[in-house]
Amino acid sequence: SPRSPRGLLDNLNPEQYAAVTLGQEPALILAGAGSGKTRVLTTRIAWLMSQGLTTPAGVMAVTFTNKAAKEMVTRLSAMLPVNVRGMWLGTFHGLCNRFLRAHWKLAGLPQGFQILDAGDTVSAVKRVIKAMKLDEERFVPKQVSWFIAGAKEDGMRPRDIDLRDEQTRKLVEIYQAYEDQCEREGVVDFAELMLRSYELMRDNAAVREHYQRRFQYVLVDEFQDTNKLQYAWLKMFAPPGNGQGVFAVGDDDQSIYAFRGARVGNMSDFEREYRVRKVVKLEQNYRSFGNILDAANALISNNSHRLGKNLRTEAGPGEPVRVHEANSDFAEAQWLLEEAQALHRQGLARSEIAVLYRSNAQSRVIESALFNAGIPYRVYGGLRFFERAEVKHALAYLRLIENPNDDTSFLRVVNFPARGIGARTVELLQDGARQSGRSLYQSIGSVSGRGGASLGGFVGMVDAMREATTGLTLREIIEHVIETSGLADFYRAEKEGEERLENLGELVNAAEAFVTQEGFGKDAIALPVDEHSPGQIADGLPAAIAPANPATPDAETGEIMSPLAAFLTHASLEAGDNQAQAGQDAVQLMTVHSAKGLEFDAVFITGLEEGLFPHENSMSDSDGLEEERRLMYVAITRARQRLYISFCQTRMLHGQTRYNIKSRFMEELPEETLKWLTPRNQGFGSGFARDYQQAWQRGSGLKSMVGAGRVEPPSFASAPVPQSMKQSAAQKTGDEHGGLRVGKGVFHTKFGEGVLLTLEGSGPDARAQVNFGRHGVKWLALSVAKLTPID
Ligand code: ATP
Ligand code: MG
Repeated sequence: SPRSPRGLLDNLNPEQYAAVTLGQEPALILAGAGSGKTRVLTTRIAWLMSQGLTTPAGVMAVTFTNKAAKEMVTRLSAMLPVNVRGMWLGTFHGLCNRFLRAHWKLAGLPQGFQILDAGDTVSAVKRVIKAMKLDEERFVPKQVSWFIAGAKEDGMRPRDIDLRDEQTRKLVEIYQAYEDQCEREGVVDFAELMLRSYELMRDNAAVREHYQRRFQYVLVDEFQDTNKLQYAWLKMFAPPGNGQGVFAVGDDDQSIYAFRGARVGNMSDFEREYRVRKVVKLEQNYRSFGNILDAANALISNNSHRLGKNLRTEAGPGEPVRVHEANSDFAEAQWLLEEAQALHRQGLARSEIAVLYRSNAQSRVIESALFNAGIPYRVYGGLRFFERAEVKHALAYLRLIENPNDDTSFLRVVNFPARGIGARTVELLQDGARQSGRSLYQSIGSVSGRGGASLGGFVGMVDAMREATTGLTLREIIEHVIETSGLADFYRAEKEGEERLENLGELVNAAEAFVTQEGFGKDAIALPVDEHSPGQIADGLPAAIAPANPATPDAETGEIMSPLAAFLTHASLEAGDNQAQAGQDAVQLMTVHSAKGLEFDAVFITGLEEGLFPHENSMSDSDGLEEERRLMYVAITRARQRLYISFCQTRMLHGQTRYNIKSRFMEELPEETLKWLTPRNQGFGSGFARDYQQAWQRGSGLKSMVGAGRVEPPSFASAPVPQSMKQSAAQKTGDEHGGLRVGKGVFHTKFGEGVLLTLEGSGPDARAQVNFGRHGVKWLALSVAKLTPID
C-alpha cells in the first residue's frame, strides 16, 4: 500500500532515500531545482510518523508561501492517515501568528490583536509622521516603513539602534512613536509577528524549554531565502547541539530575496553552527526535459558566487525552448494566448500553463488579452484580493466589530461612505486621543459640537453592528456589515461600482470557503489537541504560561476562536488568491518570485528585455545582476515539458513606451537548445532596433505625434495613448535635440550604441534617457554627453 513505509520510499533515488531516513540529527540538503528537495522534506515527515519516531505535534515545518504550505498539507494527507491540520506546518508568519495567539498575554498583546498588511503598515507610519509634524518629503512613509521593518528584521528595537546622525535619530523617534501607536491600537505588522515571537522565546525560559522539547523535528524548505531574524527565530526553537532533528533544504542558485534581507550565508552558518556532518547533494532533476535543463544550467554558470552543484536528467532532450520576438507587448500577449489555446486543445489543462513575468505591471496587458479572448485565468500576487479598496473598507468595519480600538480601521471608514465627518473633526479627535493616550474610539468625548455628534453617530453605528451580529454566522455578519455600513448603497450608486460590488460579494464567498473548505482558523488555533496523543501538548507547560484563550474551546460551541477573528487573521496573512475561482481550470499568471517552488507542464517567460529582466534597478552592480540571473534560473526551471521565452521591441510601461533591446540573458542560453519562432536577430546594431527603425521610417506616413508628444510607432496606431503627465511639458520642446530623435539609434563613445528613449528639457538642462543594452538604461546630460545619431 502507498501508505506503508516501503511504499513511501519506493520512488526515491539512493541520495533522496538517505536524506529521508536520516536520524535525529542536523542536516543540510543543498540541491538544484527540481531535484526533489520539497518531496524529500515532505516524505521525511511522513516517514518519521509512519515509523513512530514522532507525532504530528512533534513536527514543525516551515515553507515560504501559503501556496507551498497548502501543497504540503495535500501531499502529506495523501501519504498518511493522520490529521495533518493540527501540525505546525506553515509560513514563518503563519507560525508566528499561531504562536502569539497561544501566548498573547506573555507577548504583551491584546487577545484579539489584528495584523497590519503592507499597505496598512505604510498608512499607520504615515499617521505617525503627520502627528509628529514631520516633512513627508523628507520622511517618505513607505521608506520609513522599510526602515522600521529592516530594523525589526535585524532584531532591533528603537533603543538598540545606533543614533549615528540626525536623520537616524529622527527615524528612530518615528519607530518608537509607531510602536506606541501599534501598542495602543492592538495591532502588529508582519515583521513584528516574527520579532515578538523571537523575543518571547528568548526571554521566557519556560516557554522556550517547552517548545524545544516539543518539536523533535524541525524542517525548513527554501532555506536560502531566510533572513537574519528568521534564522535566529529558528535557533530559538531548535538551537544547535540540542539534539533535535533540524532539516534545512535549499538551493543557493534560487536565492531571490536578497533585496528583502535574505541571507544566503545562513546556509554556511547553519552547516558550521549545527556541525552538519555531511551536506546532502541531490543531482538528478525529475522535473524538466534536457533542453530546459541545459538552458538553465548554462545561464546560471554565468554567476560567480555559487556553492557549485550539477543537475542532470534522464528524461531526454524533449522539445526545444521556443523563443518569440514580438513587436509590442500587445502582440506578445496575443501570441502567447494563441499558443496557450493550442496547448489546451492538445489536451493540456489550463492550470498546467503558467505565464511568468518579472514585474506585476506586465500582467495588465496579458490579463486583458486573456479576458477579451474569454480564457479563464488566475493571477497570483498582483493586487491581492484582500488589498482592494472596497474589500479593505468592509474588512475595516469587521475589524472594528472585533476591536473598536483599531485606529487604522477607524480612520479608514469613519467617513466612508461619507457621513459628514470632516478632516477638521478627525484632527480634533486625533489630538484628543493623543493627549489622553487612548484610542480614537475611546476619545470621541473629546470633540464637542456637531463634529462630536457625528462621531457619536458613527461609533453608535459600529456598536449596533456588533450587537446585531452577535451569534450570526460569518456569512451573515459580513452581509449585514456590507449593508448597514452603507458600503453596498454607495457602490450601487457609483457609476463604476459594479465590479466593486462583485468584489464585496466575493468577500462573502471567500468567508464561506474559509469556513467550509479550509476549516477556519487553521493558523489561528493555538495549540490544537493532537488526536493521537491527546493532552500531550499543554502538559509540558507550567500553568502560569500555559496557552490562554483562544486555545481553550468555547464550552458551549467548542469554538476555538471566533470565526470572524479567524477570518480577519486569514485575510491579513493569506496571499489573497481569489477563492471563488480556486476550482476553475485557469491559466496561471504570476511573477517569477511567486513561482518559486512550483512546477507546470508549460511555462511562458515574458518580457526578456534589458531593463525589465534584468530589471533596471539591479543592473548597476554585479550582485544585483546575479540575483536577476538566479531569478531567471528559477523561471526556467519551473517548466516540465515546454518552455517559451518572449520579448518585445516596444512596451508600454508606467504610461511610457519603451524601446527595448532583448535581454542579455538570451545570449547566455545555448543556441542548440532554442528554436526561434521569429527570425533570429544578430543582436543590437544590426538587429531589430535597426529593423524597427527602418520599418518605422517606411511607415512614416502613419507617423504621428500622439498624446504627450511621444512619437508612436505604427504598431501602436490603435493602442491607448500614453499619459505621461510628468514629462509632457518637457517633451514638447524636447522630442528633438541636435538631430537626436526618440526611438532612434544613438552612439556614445563609452557606452556604444543605444536606443534613445526620452528627451527632456532644453539648453543646459537637456537630458536624454538611452537604453544601452549591456550597459543599461541611462540618463545623460546632453551638455556633457557626446551622443551622435545613427542613421
Ligand atoms: P525547487 O528547487 O524548484 O523547489 P525541488 O528540489 O523542491 O524543486 P520537487 O518539487 O520536490 O523539487 O520535485 C520536482 C518534481 O520531481 C516533482 O514533481 C517531484 O514529484 C518529482 N520527483 C522528485 N523526486 C522524484 C523521484 N525520485 N522519482 C520521480 N519523481 C520525482
Ligand atoms: Mg521545492
